[in-house]
Amino acid sequence: MAILLSRGGNNVPAEVQRWQHFLLSRNIPQAGSIDADFGLNTQNATKIFQLEMGVPVTGALDAATHAAAVTRGYRDISMDFYSARAGKHWPPPPSFNTPSNAARNSAFGCFMFSLQPEGPRPDHETIVIGGSCDGAQRDWVAANIVTIDVTQLKFAAEYRGRFRCHRLIERKVKDLFGRWEAEGLLHLFLTYAGAYVSRYVRDTQLPKAGHGPKKSSAVTSLSNHAFGSAFDINATWNPRTKTPAPPDVTQRGSVRLLVPSANAVGFFWGGHYQAPTKFDGMHFEFADFSQL
Ligand SMILES: [Zn+2]
Repeated sequence: MAILLSRGGNNVPAEVQRWQHFLLSRNIPQAGSIDADFGLNTQNATKIFQLEMGVPVTGALDAATHAAAVTRGYRDISMDFYSARAGKHWPPPPSFNTPSNAARNSAFGCFMFSLQPEGPRPDHETIVIGGSCDGAQRDWVAANIVTIDVTQLKFAAEYRGRFRCHRLIERKVKDLFGRWEAEGLLHLFLTYAGAYVSRYVRDTQLPKAGHGPKKSSAVTSLSNHAFGSAFDINATWNPRTKTPAPPDVTQRGSVRLLVPSANAVGFFWGGHYQAPTKFDGMHFEFADFSQL
């Protein structure tokens, strides 16, 4: 039995996202943004789709509209799909772990960095990256960080067509988003919150006065974002906390369905961190260096 949706109905939020993404990718911008809320915009966009398809114009994803959508590539999934992926232990963690500082420096290159005093520092954790530790690269960022357009993120709020990451994982990022597209999961991206960011791990204790040049290989508390090997999505619904990311995969903003493919191509999910590290459900980082 198909999962149906309507304005004011008892809707499955992830399915509303999926329907909104379908309407947007059919070039019906009246759908607005993907927000899991079947409101007036979604209703109007549904009517436009119904007119295009010659089915009764009800504004709801009813059985006739669902059948028409399936002929245009909308997947017919059942609630079993979600119930088979339920609970805070789904999905299980991968065989590899979050990268050690030695491993990421070895793979991505050691860089010199400093920390400005608190006044001029843009936020608590922001660092200034200089050259490579061996002096071969005068500007480590220019030599290693690339900007790509991950088109699969085009309907995610706050995505501006620029995804900045380490050049060595460009292929892995494209592979990952390609897999997510093939799986029909692009509706899960509500917001994009960045990849390469030069900073320490959030909430690291840092000196008010800042510090002079240090080697990234000598400091374990830098974020993987500083190496350009991590990215964040759906931050609002997956904050860094002591408790695991929301377990319900049908819930607005859940990223759990994305995790198996991420693991398959070598990305570790922050929701799989072990205590006492805070869980970080918005966060994916490249970790399986055997795949590079
Ligand atoms: Zn992150």
